[in-house]
Amino acid sequence: MTVVDDRLNAIRGAAPRKPHNARTLAALAANPGCRRRTLMDAAGVDKASVADRLGYRMTVGQMSSIALARGKSFEAQVKAEGGNDLLRLLRQHIDLPTVQAHYHDLNPADDDDRISARLRRSRSALVEAARAPDPVGTMFDHPILQLTMNGVRVHIEPDLIAFKFGDRFHIVEIKSFPIVDGTADSGKVAAAAQQSAVYLLAMREMLQTAGLSADLVSHEVILVCPKDFSNQPVAELIDVRKQLASLRRHLARMESIDDLLPLLPASLTFDLLPDRDGQPTRNPEELAADLTRVAARYSPDCLQSCELAGVCRAEADGTVPVLGRVVREELGGIDSIAEVVELATGSRQPDNSQRQTARLLRAAYQMRQQALEPRR
Ligand code: SF4
Repeated sequence: MTVVDDRLNAIRGAAPRKPHNARTLAALAANPGCRRRTLMDAAGVDKASVADRLGYRMTVGQMSSIALARGKSFEAQVKAEGGNDLLRLLRQHIDLPTVQAHYHDLNPADDDDRISARLRRSRSALVEAARAPDPVGTMFDHPILQLTMNGVRVHIEPDLIAFKFGDRFHIVEIKSFPIVDGTADSGKVAAAAQQSAVYLLAMREMLQTAGLSADLVSHEVILVCPKDFSNQPVAELIDVRKQLASLRRHLARMESIDDLLPLLPASLTFDLLPDRDGQPTRNPEELAADLTRVAARYSPDCLQSCELAGVCRAEADGTVPVLGRVVREELGGIDSIAEVVELATGSRQPDNSQRQTARLLRAAYQMRQQALEPRR
């Protein structure tokens, strides 16, 4: 265990580590300037429990138990009998002329199957398949992948199959939202594409570490969904190059944990000090004080992607960031909404850096006033 690991463990405290998944990685990369989330996710802190202790209960990206059960049963159906249904789809819809395929089960063998052992097995199976000249299709169910984020290696356990045909891998993402008349909910497809981009990058990183080409993993992901509210699966190809480029750009902008830790007080911790029944005993005021020691970068997008959004929104109340990223960028250099109003109405004189923005604000304010004046 490294010094950084020790420090991150102390920041997390007694709670078990909250593992990453593709959704959390995509959300983290979408707000690369937020030190608070960067630190808490690297330490595996349960952000929902911290928010709860501070009086801001919030759930993000959680499905109802019915939707979860439906998703699991649909996935099991698609993968049943060594992926028979899936192979039929690949032949019919994706035009892969698969004759036969081997099925590699990389699911945990039992409850004691450690993630590091599964990572080794997954890596060895995928690298071996990548090197094999054999053109027969091969499916890998539930491989463990690894991705480096802000200098920390994180494991991800995708709910997916990596399918190798010829010399290329395709990622197969099974989702339970329907494709109705060839169209699916655009928000859900976008989220699936973002998650797939995380898997794609992790798989490419894994193969590159073994000295293989990243191009062995196709940027075309196979999305499998139920057709028209039935249980019949249908497959579509989605190109995730755009999502991949954006993910890479955001990852490159993220601050390294090695650089961030020395800037924080040594005593900082998000330990909730659970009692024997697992109930938190940490003083909320102390916890809030530790939270404010790590800078956040709130925007309304956080409400869809981060369990701490309620805490951070309350903290940012009255400041320009609560109005959204576009407004924040347009009003760069002005922090509070009250100051914006004063500059717009002319009750405050702008400093040199604010002059141009103040001119635009005043013009916008005058136009609004004219529009609101009653017509004669
Ligand atoms: S809610 Fe707070 S901690 Fe989470 S990403 Fe937004 S600003 Fe960062």
